[in-house]
Amino acid sequence: MNVFETMESNVRSYCRSFPDVFVKAKGSRIYADSGRAFLDFFAGAGALNYGHNNDFIKKKIVAYLESDGMSHGLDMHTSAKEVFLNRFSELILKPRNLSYKVQFCGPTGTNAVEAALKLARRVKGRTGIFSFMGAFHGMSLGSLAATSNLYHRGAAGTDLDRVHFMPFPQGFMKSFDTIQYLEEVLTDGHSGIEKPAAIIFETLQAEGGINEAPIEWMKQLRDLCNRHDILLICDEVQVGCGRTGPFFSFERADIVPDIVVLSKSISGYGLPMSIVLMKPELDIWNPGEHTGTFRGNQLAFVGATAALEYGDSINLEADVYRKGEFVRQFLTKEIVPISQSISIRGMGLIWGIDVSASKHDFSKEIAARCYELGLILERVGRDDKVIKLMPPLTISLEELEEGCAIVKQAVQECFEKYEASEYLLA
Ligand code: PMP
Repeated sequence: MNVFETMESNVRSYCRSFPDVFVKAKGSRIYADSGRAFLDFFAGAGALNYGHNNDFIKKKIVAYLESDGMSHGLDMHTSAKEVFLNRFSELILKPRNLSYKVQFCGPTGTNAVEAALKLARRVKGRTGIFSFMGAFHGMSLGSLAATSNLYHRGAAGTDLDRVHFMPFPQGFMKSFDTIQYLEEVLTDGHSGIEKPAAIIFETLQAEGGINEAPIEWMKQLRDLCNRHDILLICDEVQVGCGRTGPFFSFERADIVPDIVVLSKSISGYGLPMSIVLMKPELDIWNPGEHTGTFRGNQLAFVGATAALEYGDSINLEADVYRKGEFVRQFLTKEIVPISQSISIRGMGLIWGIDVSASKHDFSKEIAARCYELGLILERVGRDDKVIKLMPPLTISLEELEEGCAIVKQAVQECFEKYEASEYLLA
């Protein structure tokens, strides 16, 4: 037994799918102590959009460390934070005509979701929140209450209340008008559900199974929130920072959420950092009402500034569209024809191969085979039946091709092992 098994809690999870000891990582590759190299289609669950140890970002962080810059600063004014705020404003907010105030919270995504929910409840003086089936917003109590996965909810050990789950336009009955349903819930005096303070949503549910919200739906959701005086919170933790193409994934719908939550890749280097963006009039916090020792991860600020500059200098957005188109074509031409029970979804550089229509538990086997063949990827969605392809945005086209070829081999082998007809749902 190794030290992980003897000492680390049973709660550990990814290491069960990727059971090597990893020692080194560069770009889109991770290296194990055995000497094996793995291509990374996982990207730290979205925290490594700029790749592992990105040289541009690393140099800035190393220089900051060498200069004995502040390493910890709570929410004090520091030069690292000042530079980040200025660059974030210049490179992200101003060009998009967005006016948000920035709240630094505890360093993880769930911390930012907690802050956003707390703020929304304070602003509206209502306690209810609407979330969506398939949603993932984090594991602390407030965000877990807005997370739909019953396995995760079951671990809470206490009630998770004040959140109602509404049907998401994907992953639910296709013919169902989810906006009309929301409208009915909000207007029917006998719906049994009080008006919420906020509706929290993901433009593309990542953990939920790569479920994409249609553009028109997002516009209608924005409109519905306006008409009913409800705040719209967009959780950009996983699909923000360029994952779907534009810096904010909600840009594709041309909407402006009232509150935006960012984390994962915002620091550019896999360092913990998270922020809440709020329309200025919503900033009703009194000083120190929501605090935290690690609200100012100075190294993350340096990494975040460098990442924004790097993304801007290489026109990352256009690059993501190009590579995303490659993946779309690959999946359409090479993966979908393998079986009628395969469907694909995605955009930018987040894609899902859905094998849930098959009776057999192919997804686990496919992911395990990919790992054997040297590719790391994750499974998401209902019963984890969607294979998620999420490489660093900076991956080269050659590496993307290499990874996709492994996916094809794994999918093909797994399906060939069984008579397709035997396993297809009637
Ligand atoms: N929101 C979304 C959309 C996420 O994908 C995640 C993490 N998978 C979170 C919130 C929670 O972030 P963290 O794990 O950093 O708490």
